[in-house]
Amino acid sequence: AKTLGRGRYEIFNATMRERVRLIQQLESDLQRALERNEFQVYYQPIVNLSNREINGFEALVRWNHPERGLVSPGDFIPIAEETGLITLLDWKVMRDACQQVYRWNENLKNRPPFVLSVNLSARQFIQANLVEQITKILNDTGLERQYLKIEMTETALLENPEGVAESISQLKSLGIGLSLDDFGTGYSSLSYLHRFSVDNLKIDLSFVRSMNSEPQSFEIVRTMIVLAHALNIYAIAEGIETPDQLNTLQHLNCPLGQGYYFSPPLPAENIKTLF
Ligand code: C2E
Ligand code: CA
Ligand code: CA
Ligand code: CA
Repeated sequence: AKTLGRGRYEIFNATMRERVRLIQQLESDLQRALERNEFQVYYQPIVNLSNREINGFEALVRWNHPERGLVSPGDFIPIAEETGLITLLDWKVMRDACQQVYRWNENLKNRPPFVLSVNLSARQFIQANLVEQITKILNDTGLERQYLKIEMTETALLENPEGVAESISQLKSLGIGLSLDDFGTGYSSLSYLHRFSVDNLKIDLSFVRSMNSEPQSFEIVRTMIVLAHALNIYAIAEGIETPDQLNTLQHLNCPLGQGYYFSPPLPAENIKTLF
C-alpha cells in the first residue's frame, strides 16, 4: 500500500508539472494568437421555446491553435483573465460578433432582428472606459444598441458592486440589455436582479441537466422561471439537450432556451443554414 501511495504521489506530481508547463505554454501562445487572429467566434442560437424561432445568438469564442487544434474557452479564458489578455480578447469577440449579426440583420429584413449576447469577463466591468469601448464598437459596426446584450456572472457583481453598478447603469441607459449568467451557481443575491435591472436570467445548464431526474432541481428551475416572470425578466434555459427537457421547460412557460437539442455553437458560415 505504501508503494502504491508513493507511486500515486509521483504521478500526481508529474501531472501537476505537466499542467503547469501547459499553462505557461498557453500563456505565451495567447499573446501571439491575438496578433495572428487565431480566435474565432462561434454562435449558438437562443430560441423562443413557444414557436422555436431563433431570437438571437450567444457569441462563444474558440481558439484555433496551430498545433493543438480547437481549444475550448474553459481551457484558456481563466489564463487570459489572469494575464489580463481577456480585455483585448473580449473586445475582439464583441467587435466581430456585432459586425456579423449586423450583416445577418441587414440581409434578413423580413424577420425581426436577431439579438446578440456577448460574454464579458468580470474584469471588464471595472474598466474606466467600458461604456466608451462598447459605444465605439456599436458605432463602428452599425449594430443598434437594443440588439446587444451583455452576459455577466454573479462573480463580477460580487467583486466590486459599487464600481460595477455605475458601469451597468450607464449601459442600461444606453439601452443595452443585461443577462445574469449561470444563475444559481454562485453566491447570488436576489436583490441584484432588481438593483441592476437585469433583463435576462440564465438558468445554468447543471439544473436543466438534472431537472427531470431530481425533484429538487426541478423545483429550482420552476422557481427561477416563476421568479423571472414576477420580476418581468426573461428566463433563458441553458444546455437543453433532449426533447424531454424542452417539454418540461415549455410546460413551465420558460420563454427562451439554448442547447445542443437546437444547435451547438457554430461558425458563422454554418449558422446561415439555420435560417
Ligand atoms: P457560458 O457563458 O455559461 O456558456 C455556455 C456553455 O455551454 C458554452 O461552453 C456552450 O458551448 C455550452 N453549451 C451550450 N449548449 C450546451 C448543451 O446543450 N450541453 C452542454 N453540455 N453544453 C452546452 P463553451 O463555449 O465551452 O464556453 C465555456 C465558458 O467560457 C462560457 O460559459 C463562458 O463563461 C466562457 N466564454 C466563452 N466565450 C467567451 C468570451 O468571448 N468571453 C468571455 N469572457 N468568456 C467566454
Ligand atoms: Ca454565457
Ligand atoms: Ca452560462
Ligand atoms: Ca457556465
